[in-house]
Amino acid sequence: MEISLIKELKFIVDNNVGKLAKWLRMMGYDAVLFDGSDDSYLVAKALAEDRIILTRDTQIMKRGVITSGRLKAILINSDEPEPQIRQVIDTLNLDCRLRPFTLCLECNQPLEERSKDQVKDRVPPYVFLTQKQYMECPACHRIYWRGTHWKAMTEKLKRFLPG
Ligand SMILES: [Zn+2]
Repeated sequence: MEISLIKELKFIVDNNVGKLAKWLRMMGYDAVLFDGSDDSYLVAKALAEDRIILTRDTQIMKRGVITSGRLKAILINSDEPEPQIRQVIDTLNLDCRLRPFTLCLECNQPLEERSKDQVKDRVPPYVFLTQKQYMECPACHRIYWRGTHWKAMTEKLKRFLPG
């Protein structure tokens, strides 16, 4: 994988647009969820880790660090998840085909490849018989494979492709 060619955009997702975190992880973008209530922590974490803020909170957008352009934030317009992710993709020109399914959807950790032998007894028997490629999250040990769930998510992502 040509990691060096990939633009390293990272995100911090406010809990008022929390569903965006999974969508971004699905595309392979590092996205942490902010589930606190103090905006100061959100802003401090974004600055410290060079993350783009995604929020529906207009108050955050008025902060000097954001109006000055020192910290990037996107004010999300919609309440619905699909227009939300579309807005982020359009605003930042994200490429959803770049590296889908490289991060754990639950913990934002990079997935590691596993051989069939390594996942034996850890996936359902019919999966083991039919799937060759497996990935594991080193944090929560969830196993991912290119099964029907994966296909369904790929179909969803395709709807966001240009043209
Ligand atoms: Zn995980």
